[in-house]
Amino acid sequence: MWCGFSCPQTVYTEIFLWVEQKIEGNRGARIRLDGDRLSMEKLVKKWFKHLVWIGIAAWTGFTFVGYFTPIRELGLAFLQTRMGSWEVFWVFFYGFATYGNAGFMREQVCKYMCPYARFQSAMFDRDTLIVSYDAHRGERRGPRRKDMDARAAGLGDCIDCALCVQVCPTGIDIRNGLQYECIGCGLCVDACNSVMDKVRLPRGLIRYDTQNGLAGRWSPAQVMRRVFRPRVLVYASVLALLVVGLLASLVTRTPLKVDVVRDRASLARLVEGGRLENVYRLQVMNATESVQRYRIEARGLDGLTLAGEGSVEVGPAESRWVPVRLQIMDGTASPGSHPIHFDVRQEQGGAQVSEKSVFLVPR
Ligand code: SF4
Ligand code: SF4
Repeated sequence: MWCGFSCPQTVYTEIFLWVEQKIEGNRGARIRLDGDRLSMEKLVKKWFKHLVWIGIAAWTGFTFVGYFTPIRELGLAFLQTRMGSWEVFWVFFYGFATYGNAGFMREQVCKYMCPYARFQSAMFDRDTLIVSYDAHRGERRGPRRKDMDARAAGLGDCIDCALCVQVCPTGIDIRNGLQYECIGCGLCVDACNSVMDKVRLPRGLIRYDTQNGLAGRWSPAQVMRRVFRPRVLVYASVLALLVVGLLASLVTRTPLKVDVVRDRASLARLVEGGRLENVYRLQVMNATESVQRYRIEARGLDGLTLAGEGSVEVGPAESRWVPVRLQIMDGTASPGSHPIHFDVRQEQGGAQVSEKSVFLVPR
């Protein structure tokens, strides 16, 4: 179900294929176009296809990175052509990966690169539903005339039209049994059913079934009874625990994040009034949907005070860098590095975050 219908690799490959078909035509037309000499029509079609692909890939990279960083600021970075930031790098990275994987690599990613496919085989057993060819019913395969009695001729239901092989995106023949390349997309099921309709035979020569079901010729009800076996119950319990853990972490999550960076330009300096000062930059990230004001405090050293503004306002789903100066009276702390804490508290609401740092006292 995951590989064939939900995996982004499959979904994006389908989207890119759809675009390709709309612009270049069906498979036959595309093969002809590829074989044609270079012409204006070929050039326009190819360029237009890649333009649409790049548009989809770029939008994917942009929105994906937008999950992790305020998307309005990211959009501004592009509009103002500030191309040096890490966020912009990741937009290009994911955009390029989408373009390459869905436009060119396609099922090769499933066959040679995807770790999920390898991991999945460890969860397989003979009662796992897979796309299967019913060899009992299909063999001996072979073409037949309309007026011929296939059974009397020793033929099964497979007319050996090879449509199931032609439609398979990974190029396998499902009639050879379970193969690791199968991504369970079900295209061969649809293709074979259409053939069965035409030759007036029951559908389901290729269908979702289990290895035990095929070997024992089980009915669908018998196959479904094996769903509640110990292996599935254990996996379901583990999954349920993970879902509960995820929900608990969502409910208890703090809608505020803070990063502390020391100002490396001036580690420690003496300022007016005989005070020793360290300078920091705090990145305050507001993960709520409304404007928030946060109070910043520091603790960990006797007489530690915060010089300047002790609060900051941050827009919805935005982050702000705030310069913060901490001071102590010179001579009140021994030379060296002293651990301190920044406490950032939401003024309207209970969110609070403590971040560690150090206060440096020079010798
Ligand atoms: S064998 Fe069938 S289900 Fe498997 S990848 Fe090929 S077309 Fe898809
Ligand atoms: S599509 Fe069906 S009938 Fe045709 S070769 Fe495949 S299994 Fe046989």
